[in-house]
Amino acid sequence: MKYIGAHVSASGGVENAPLNAQEIGAGAFALFTKNQRQWKSAPLTPESIAKFNENCRKAGYKPFQILPHDSYLINLGHPEEEGLEKSREAFLDEMQRCEQLGLDRLNFHPGGSLGKISDEECLARIAGSINLALEKTKGVIAVIENTAGQGTNLGYRFEHLRDIINQVNDKRRVGVCIDTCHAFAAGYDLSTEKGFHDTFDTFEKIIGFSYLKGMHLNDAKKGLNSRVDRHDNLGKGLLGSDIFRFIMQDPRFDEMPLILETPDETLWKDEIRTLYSMAGQ
Ligand SMILES: [Zn+2]
Ligand SMILES: [Zn+2]
Repeated sequence: MKYIGAHVSASGGVENAPLNAQEIGAGAFALFTKNQRQWKSAPLTPESIAKFNENCRKAGYKPFQILPHDSYLINLGHPEEEGLEKSREAFLDEMQRCEQLGLDRLNFHPGGSLGKISDEECLARIAGSINLALEKTKGVIAVIENTAGQGTNLGYRFEHLRDIINQVNDKRRVGVCIDTCHAFAAGYDLSTEKGFHDTFDTFEKIIGFSYLKGMHLNDAKKGLNSRVDRHDNLGKGLLGSDIFRFIMQDPRFDEMPLILETPDETLWKDEIRTLYSMAGQ
């Protein structure tokens, strides 16, 4: 079974996210559990948590269909002590919010060196940050997203994700999310059938599908290996629609949240319907 949705708004409270997802015919959704552009947010209230659970139950969303995303401010590989501490604290808060909501995974961008430490050192710091958060929480998988490799951000090679996973102590609680736009921008050519097979054969060899806990389905505005992160609506960018059909017809992408982060939200309902029909559902 495929579970397809979008990164929906949680404005007014996390309890609104499942309602917004239901409205567009989604079988999965992503959300921010706090304001993604601020370091600190008020804690989740017991009322908000209860309503979130109730709304998910009524709409039939189970934890494996939900892929919360952390704040963009967090850099778990920060080269400086102060920045690293602040990021680790905020990431733990994000993990604890997921724990409180009964969610089983948290999606995040690994981080970057800011050009001040080696890539190797940065990846070790990211793994260290994940270990700290896993020690203090239960039941939530840390899901590392591949990036477009903008600036000094790491995670644009499958090898980076593998190197992080290798240094995480509890392998059962680490996973990855592959964003199709980011992969293309990082040089994995998902615009052709051969490229699709090559990319995911490589993925299986280097990381392994057992670690795949979600996908971000985005078309790309910028070229192959551009290292620029600009999403486009499905079929409107340089990836075209074939890649999304290949994913929909491939059982390796079953039983996980498949999430749109495409810029024109008014198209989500149609995009979701199209993807489900490609999957034969
Ligand atoms: Zn993404
Ligand atoms: Zn992106």
